[in-house]
Amino acid sequence: MMAQYLEIKQQYPDALLFYRMGDFYELFFDDAAAAAEALDIALTKRGKHNGDDIPMCGVPVHAAEGYLLTLIRKGFRVAVCEQMESPAEAKKRGSKSVVKRDVVRLVTPGTLTEESLLEARRHNYLAAISNVRGAWAIAYTDISTGAFHALSLPQARVGSELARLAPSEVLISESMDEGFATVLDDIGVVPTFLGRASFDSTSAEKRLCDVFGVASSDAFGNFERTELSALGAVVDYLEITQKGNLPLLQPPRQENVSRLLQIDNATRKNLELTQSMQGGRAGSLLSVIDRTVTAAGARLLERRLSSPSRDLDTIHQRQDGVSWAVEAADLSERLISALKKVPDIDRALSRLGLDRGGPRDLAAVRNSLGQAEEIAALVECSDLPELLQNARAALVGHDDLSSLLDNALVAEPPLLARDGGFIAEGYDAELDEVRTLRDEGRGVIARLQSEYAEKAGVSSLKIKHNNVLGYFIETTALHAEKMMSAPLSETFIHRQTTANQVRFTTVELSELETKILNAGGRAIEIEKAHFQALQSRITENAPALTQLSLALAEFDVATAMAKLAKSEDWVKPTVDDSRAFHVEQGRHPVVEHALRNAGGAPFIANDCELSPNADGPALQLLTGPNMAGKSTYLRQNALIAILAQMGAYIPAKAAHIGLVGQIFSRVGASDDLAKGRSTFMVEMVETAAILNQSDDRALVILDEIGRGTATYDGLSIAWATLEHLAEVNRVRGLFATHYHEMTALADKLPGVSNATVTVKEWEGEVIFLHEVRAGAADRSYGVQVAQLAGLPKAVISRAKSVLESLEQGEREKTSPARLIDDLPLFSVVTETVKQETVAAKPSAAEERLKEIVPDDLTPREALQILYELRELA
Ligand code: ADP
Repeated sequence: MMAQYLEIKQQYPDALLFYRMGDFYELFFDDAAAAAEALDIALTKRGKHNGDDIPMCGVPVHAAEGYLLTLIRKGFRVAVCEQMESPAEAKKRGSKSVVKRDVVRLVTPGTLTEESLLEARRHNYLAAISNVRGAWAIAYTDISTGAFHALSLPQARVGSELARLAPSEVLISESMDEGFATVLDDIGVVPTFLGRASFDSTSAEKRLCDVFGVASSDAFGNFERTELSALGAVVDYLEITQKGNLPLLQPPRQENVSRLLQIDNATRKNLELTQSMQGGRAGSLLSVIDRTVTAAGARLLERRLSSPSRDLDTIHQRQDGVSWAVEAADLSERLISALKKVPDIDRALSRLGLDRGGPRDLAAVRNSLGQAEEIAALVECSDLPELLQNARAALVGHDDLSSLLDNALVAEPPLLARDGGFIAEGYDAELDEVRTLRDEGRGVIARLQSEYAEKAGVSSLKIKHNNVLGYFIETTALHAEKMMSAPLSETFIHRQTTANQVRFTTVELSELETKILNAGGRAIEIEKAHFQALQSRITENAPALTQLSLALAEFDVATAMAKLAKSEDWVKPTVDDSRAFHVEQGRHPVVEHALRNAGGAPFIANDCELSPNADGPALQLLTGPNMAGKSTYLRQNALIAILAQMGAYIPAKAAHIGLVGQIFSRVGASDDLAKGRSTFMVEMVETAAILNQSDDRALVILDEIGRGTATYDGLSIAWATLEHLAEVNRVRGLFATHYHEMTALADKLPGVSNATVTVKEWEGEVIFLHEVRAGAADRSYGVQVAQLAGLPKAVISRAKSVLESLEQGEREKTSPARLIDDLPLFSVVTETVKQETVAAKPSAAEERLKEIVPDDLTPREALQILYELRELA
């Protein structure tokens, strides 16, 4: 057995091998040690290998899913090795034969299908990146829904597109450039390396044709070689991990990145679109806007938010969907109630496709079809916009499958097909019969007994059972004679005569006996055959069912966005191909939500105007103290652009957004010490990317760049960056800065305007009004803000005096170095001491000192007091 284990293990060096032994999956050697630690289970030993103990641990098969989940979350891959025959079969081959075993599946983060291993409301993508002679492509699939896409893109955009997809596993070729590791590292995925052959575009084409049963890949569209290479790598990897049992992939679709709003990884993180800075969904924009009621709807919404469009037609169609749902308010509510009952058909379908499904997956399809009919009927008379009209069309026309499943399945089927009990009564006469036999064996026999008693005219006739004869008919010798002669002897066959009794059987009774004995097993067999048949019927219909699922998701998203728009008072923005950026009374949805939850002050809405003249660059330079709301304002306008282009309503009174092609942001920064980059370095790398990539369709949000270095360095960099963005990149953008000197740029550069977030000063304290107004801030109020933050009084008053000297020095044109020389060096110390003494209880000496009026003292008295004080101290 160990020899078999080692042979199999050798084929899966990078995975933990779950080696099936009866009711357990066992792990050995290093695998055992690693798994025992990761799962917190006992490490034992079993037998010896080369004289050493073999470490071992195991997990019970029935609970394996939970353990798998933990291992996958902790970054392991698991090869599941099953017994391919029963021990009895192995014995037949020879008394010492080991049961045949083989790996049936390699479980990796990107290839999960189990409900418990997946997040229902999120996609789980597996991606592959390929590079053929300098041309780049990404292919990706979610095998739990069957989506399969490829996109060509410039190398510089690989990172942003991967960030959009946030795949849980990325395949790259062994020969791929080392530098790629950093890109993947940035989005937090560990690459899986495949041999170069997996990426070969010629074999890829063949592989795809085989999988989809077409003669040429042209059948799917006009794919580039590099796209084929990436698609082929995905299929190859699925074959490796699923052991040839391919999931139900949809035919690959080409995605055109130029029709998507480009958002790079740093910007996605900064704007907290689908994940907050802390990493979870909570606190993200998605968490605040998601009102969907189905899992597929939630995934569609996430897709929309992660990949807003830059195609006007697409945006308008989606907007029309939301508008329809806003207007058809009552109907929307009824739709939502109907949608709530829609199960996750995509994932049920994928499990059925991989033969990993159960009766509940069949029921999920049935229930979806039922709900789809109901929803189609609800909107039948409504004047639907194009998007929803098409969606409605996909909901109908499944009557055959629907009635088949309706008739075949019980209302609440059990989880596993293994135990039967999911096929409804009346669906299959034979099944009904065997079930009756199984459940009512005795009753059937009793009925037969009275039938025979009547036939033979022997009321005392009995049907009995023993282990030798099985079922038999018994009667007294007196009556037996009649039964042994014609015509009754044709039915009753003599079996045995005992002292007082004669026993008979009939053809019917012996058949019945076998049937009763086999009924239980037979019932399960029949149900399993039905399961297979229903599963095939469903998988044959997979493309239409996928369309149906998408259609339901489309209704879910439209009604959910409408519900959000109504409850939050959002409006439909005008989106066109101008270069306008005009937002009236915009709000930050997440900050507004947080403020409301905190029950404090309301959110203050602000306008934003970045489109003064149709053609000029449109940059706003924003000054104002910390905590005034600069970052919030910057982000809210980026979020409004994103929401507008995903086809949603927006948190504002009105808005006019000319198509945005790229959004870049540099907001806040944290040290990336793990990667050996300082805050300043991270900031400069990101700023470089913005300056190199943004064009006149870009929306750029920069928050205090240049902050991480010496003042003059920082100011110069910020200054030059803004000039470049205005004159060369010609972007629309918002630029928050601390450098008040920069406000002078507004006079020099056309199209650059100044704005400030207002504060009021009241009794030496600042009050934040959070209102954005034209003009520049007069001061930064840093010291006041520090005071609010609770810095010790001594430090605050010292800071004030340093500031005063610096400001005075500036007015008098004194160099800062001189100024610092002039500052009383030890005043901090003295002030601190003073503070402490004030705070402490006055000493006796101090009390005495307070009583003294020096002007009234004679020299002698003064001397006297001096002695006195020395005693007190
Ligand atoms: P800054 O970038 O100027 O330091 P922030 O944008 O981080 O300031 O805002 C600080 C805090 O002020 C926010 O967390 C929020 O609580 C509050 N705030 C910001 N903008 C507004 C607003 N428009 N209305 C109400 N509160 C706001």
